[in-house]
Amino acid sequence: MTRRRIVRVLIAVAAVVVVAATVFFIAAPGIIERAQNKVEPAELPDVSAETQQLHDSLQIIDMHSDTLMWDRDILDRSDRGHMDLPRLEDGNVALQVFSSVSKSPKGQNMDSNTGDTDNITLLTIAQLQPPRTWNSMTERSLYHAEKLEHAAEDSDGKLVLIRTRGDLDQLISDREAGEQVTGALFSVEGLQNLEGNIDNLDRLYDAGMRMAGFAHFFDNDAAGSMHGVDRGGLTDLGREAFVELEQRGVIIDIAHASEAAVAEMLELATRPLVLSHGGVQATCDANRNLSDEQIRGVAATGGVVGIGYFDAAVCDLTIKAVVDAIDHVVAVAGVESVALGSDFDGSTTVGWDTTELAAITQELVNRGYTDEEITAIMGGNTLRVMRSVLPQ
Ligand SMILES: [Zn+2]
Repeated sequence: MTRRRIVRVLIAVAAVVVVAATVFFIAAPGIIERAQNKVEPAELPDVSAETQQLHDSLQIIDMHSDTLMWDRDILDRSDRGHMDLPRLEDGNVALQVFSSVSKSPKGQNMDSNTGDTDNITLLTIAQLQPPRTWNSMTERSLYHAEKLEHAAEDSDGKLVLIRTRGDLDQLISDREAGEQVTGALFSVEGLQNLEGNIDNLDRLYDAGMRMAGFAHFFDNDAAGSMHGVDRGGLTDLGREAFVELEQRGVIIDIAHASEAAVAEMLELATRPLVLSHGGVQATCDANRNLSDEQIRGVAATGGVVGIGYFDAAVCDLTIKAVVDAIDHVVAVAGVESVALGSDFDGSTTVGWDTTELAAITQELVNRGYTDEEITAIMGGNTLRVMRSVLPQ
């Protein structure tokens, strides 16, 4: 080949690589999310006009979604995943907790995972996140916090960050005055994102973290996971973090923590604790779900158990399964101890997205709950916990 011919071939090859990479980086985030966050439409009860009116009067709080993990603008209505601001408005959600997933093991399962592998690294690269997030779990969570902050800034006042009791009171009074405004509270799923350094707790707090789960799917250097290998209790770092978080007014979340870690956390608690997303053993015998003793333990702190809508939480993608779990918490610990924690966009398959929450209200009505009880279950109880824990 002549030199000119070789140059032409090289240019053609380079062009193909650029086009292929462009197609990959444009298409990959959508393909990945569609494969991870699915809806298998469940049969939903017909919502009566009366129930819709009640639903529209509620201040609904959902304690867990992983929407920040995905590469889309939460201000735009999307046809993928389970929520975004327009869909939260359709569902009349007053406050959504947005969590940060900083690490997820390959072959993630409910029974036993090591922390040796990580799927999030590839995801951060495929989504072209800033390189500082490729190798640092702290940076991933800080990036998720910034994403939420930027969304609030660009939302024309429609999405507001909740960091203090004052923010919360303002949100509720604005909504009661008829304003279309939705609150967003930043949380983290596992203290692996401290990277073993307690100083990172202040960086996350300053970035808006106001709820913190101690573990995710693997044992980390703060706490054992229910899905880990050793499933130990809290480490020295975990105990130190517990005290620091309580002092700062960060709500402590026992989701995914090992039995031993949960027992220690219940023992240490001087403020209400939450299970942000999960279920109960009595209606769904999965290891992540709470025993009656654990439910009573959470209730004794003044906290709430947030029922999820996914298979590992309620064993069936139906409204009935969700409300069966709610009924059980009510029976064991009282109506003041139960709440919602969808796990929307958490690599979950669910039976409905956040626009359809009135179906839960309808099922509660059908089972004879009073308006006052429904107000508590759908958000009032979580509001009480937030008001008592968040900083002034
Ligand atoms: Zn989770």
